[in-house]
Amino acid sequence: MATNPASPTVADIFKTMDYGPAPESDKEALAWLGKHHQKFGHYIGGAWTKPGKAFDVINPATAKVIARVTDGTKADVDAAVAAASKALPAWKALSPHARARYLYAIARAVQKHSRLLAVLESMDNGKSIRETRDIDIPLVARHFYHHAGWAQLLDTEFAGYEAIGVVGQIIPWNFPLLMLAWKIAPALAGGNTLVLKPAEFTPLSAMAFAEIVHEVGLPPGVVNLVNGHGETGAAIVDHPGVDKIAFTGSTEVGRIIRKATAGSGKKLSLELGGKSPFIVYDDADLDSVVEGVVDAIWFNQGQVCCAGSRLLVQEGIAERLVAKLRLRMEKLRLGSPLDKAVDMGAIVAPVQLERIRELVQQGVDEGATMWQPSWACPTEGCFYPPTLFTDVQPSSTIAQVEIFGPVLVTMTFRTPEESVAIANNTPYGLAASVWTESINLALDIAPKIKAGVVWVNSTNLFDAAAGFGGYRESGFGREGGREGMWEYVKRGERRAPKVAQPAKRPAARKAPRAASAGGGLPPVDRTPKLFIAGKQARPDGAYTRRIVSPSGAPVGEAPEGNRKDIRNAVEAAHAAKGWGRATGHNRAQILYYIAENLAARADEFTARIESMTECGSELARAEVDASIARLFTYGAWADKYDGAVHSVPIRGVAIAMNEPIGVIGIACDERYPLLGMLSLAAPAVATGNTTIVIPSQRHPLAATDFYAILETSDLPAGVINIVTGDKDALAKVLAEHDDVEAMWYRGGREGAKAIELASASNMKRTWTAWDDRDWLDRDEGEGREFLRAATNVKNIWVPYGE
Ligand code: NDP
Repeated sequence: MATNPASPTVADIFKTMDYGPAPESDKEALAWLGKHHQKFGHYIGGAWTKPGKAFDVINPATAKVIARVTDGTKADVDAAVAAASKALPAWKALSPHARARYLYAIARAVQKHSRLLAVLESMDNGKSIRETRDIDIPLVARHFYHHAGWAQLLDTEFAGYEAIGVVGQIIPWNFPLLMLAWKIAPALAGGNTLVLKPAEFTPLSAMAFAEIVHEVGLPPGVVNLVNGHGETGAAIVDHPGVDKIAFTGSTEVGRIIRKATAGSGKKLSLELGGKSPFIVYDDADLDSVVEGVVDAIWFNQGQVCCAGSRLLVQEGIAERLVAKLRLRMEKLRLGSPLDKAVDMGAIVAPVQLERIRELVQQGVDEGATMWQPSWACPTEGCFYPPTLFTDVQPSSTIAQVEIFGPVLVTMTFRTPEESVAIANNTPYGLAASVWTESINLALDIAPKIKAGVVWVNSTNLFDAAAGFGGYRESGFGREGGREGMWEYVKRGERRAPKVAQPAKRPAARKAPRAASAGGGLPPVDRTPKLFIAGKQARPDGAYTRRIVSPSGAPVGEAPEGNRKDIRNAVEAAHAAKGWGRATGHNRAQILYYIAENLAARADEFTARIESMTECGSELARAEVDASIARLFTYGAWADKYDGAVHSVPIRGVAIAMNEPIGVIGIACDERYPLLGMLSLAAPAVATGNTTIVIPSQRHPLAATDFYAILETSDLPAGVINIVTGDKDALAKVLAEHDDVEAMWYRGGREGAKAIELASASNMKRTWTAWDDRDWLDRDEGEGREFLRAATNVKNIWVPYGE
């Protein structure tokens, strides 16, 4: 029977298997917007502010204005911070169980309103309803459920820790409600109150969330939402009443925030950009790979910080894979985000579309081959087709710069070693996908890639139980899981009285010279040098600093290290990175051996400390004994600081590995010249890092005496390098050095500020403090806090099953 093409029968459709449109209704979302007269103020202290000077919110798929939102001023931010501060004591004092109930109620409410939230998100952001309905919103609910659990367990699982205070949170537009959940859920679970700024392009789901918070009866002021632009974000960052900043967005703004918070004592976590590799080995299942690529780079139109935007393919299969990809790209469907049958929706805003166009043009101009499917994009709204580049040089702009759009660049490699080298050839370090049928190869490669998340034969998997976050210019800190909760708590005030201290420092008196002469002979001269690459090295500048005791007695001389010495030390620390691959058992043995050698010379070190600091022999001896014990502590930890296997809702596992950060610069406390140094160097070394240590500036001679112990303890050359001299100046050089991956600093507030400012060059992790830590006290001086600071958590996702 002939059929009428205008009204096809089921049989006709079955033959062609063509998609028809499957539009989701926007009626409820429009009604919700109507209820608010399409105008929104801020949500502060449990109430809506009256809408003020506003900006347009545009549906990027239709280019129509769907709402107007108030542009937050400094006064609005002040009001929000005041509300959060006022709400803090009561919220913090609630029982963990009570906070858990609130988080649970929020999770339930998100589920109850899930369709409204999904539609609203699609209209506001342009992402497909398939994604908002099946990925974003379910993950939002999952985050609140998971963190209801952490709220419940807070006082047992984070014993000794407490809320940080008022948290400022700034989120981007690519996953508006999901990013809000990633920020708000752990903050509330930790007992903090907060002020959050949604992205200017996508504030609407946050406004709906304010209603949810209201509906569940969260105490006023616990959650405050202030709309606005970058300046509003900057006002939150700069506000003195804010104790922590959590930011997700571009590396450029992350750098501005790092500098703005330097020296303020505000805790900071940054989740920034990426240029993540998607590595395909020649034994991979290519059909799965093709679907993986679709999820890696065309998910959310490629506007994903961890998008697999660099496809690295083993040479022998490159042609076959590219051909398959092109076929698949021809079949991708792009169109109205509210059509349930589309794969790709709209780009968030014209400015982003323009940026994608410019970068693609640059790729073409630089000589790469560009390919797009033959079908045309809708002409209204912000749409950009999936795009594939081949013949790309690893150094070209499109291989290096985050495009933040549906653009995939392809490069080839020959060997697994080469794949790792190309994968790591980026300043970023957010995520990676590894595709191979060989689990041995996958698990060999995963730890070698500098990225916070590695997906094996999968991509873009997220869950509240597994931490997410990067290395290097992708930022620091984790969101999700136990590792993410640490970002929202701080060490509590100590309840127990401090351990009794040995005798107080006596009044100043003349100290004995460390190497006293015997039998009427003049003492043998001891000229300490620097300790670089396992050898004692003369300082480059050939200057020496006179060291005197507090009462002015001369106790010796110490070399004056300079910029060049620091550079040599960094080079030595890099050359020693094999230390990170040594077994925990091996590292433990060496730490115990160092302790053993120190114990053998305890008297000598006691005398040295006493002469330098005039603290009295009892306290000096206590410092040496505590140093030996501290080395034992980290010898003990070296093979016990285990990772975790997270319980994620897939058929598979997420393995959270504690990885060494790499090269760590350490500027030590002035007090406790030996113990202060070892309390920092030992955890760094126990976890596989290599170090450049700047000892106490006033009392450096315990460190220079320590060379002899290091030389006799089998520690590989370059694992601990020691440069004495002007602490702040040397520490700043380390903080500026792009090959130093983290910087710890203990000293003055100004020094700490200089370190944090300088660290923005490569966004290295910093740990600065100007508090008075009692290193003799085990609670303050050792433990997991130090091990966490010395490691990055890498989550490796390994799905299983056929
Ligand atoms: P931004 O980093 O500029 O914006 C992220 C958030 O920070 C927004 O809420 C923004 O406000 C706010 N903000 C901007 N400037 C400041 C400031 N000085 N102080 C405090 N907060 C500030 O990203 P864009 O939206 O401009 O996107 C630009 C590029 O960033 C993209 O092309 C993409 O490459 C990258 N990006 C990366 C993301 C990621 O997850 N890694 C997410 C989003 C973007 P406002 O909305 O008004 O700009």
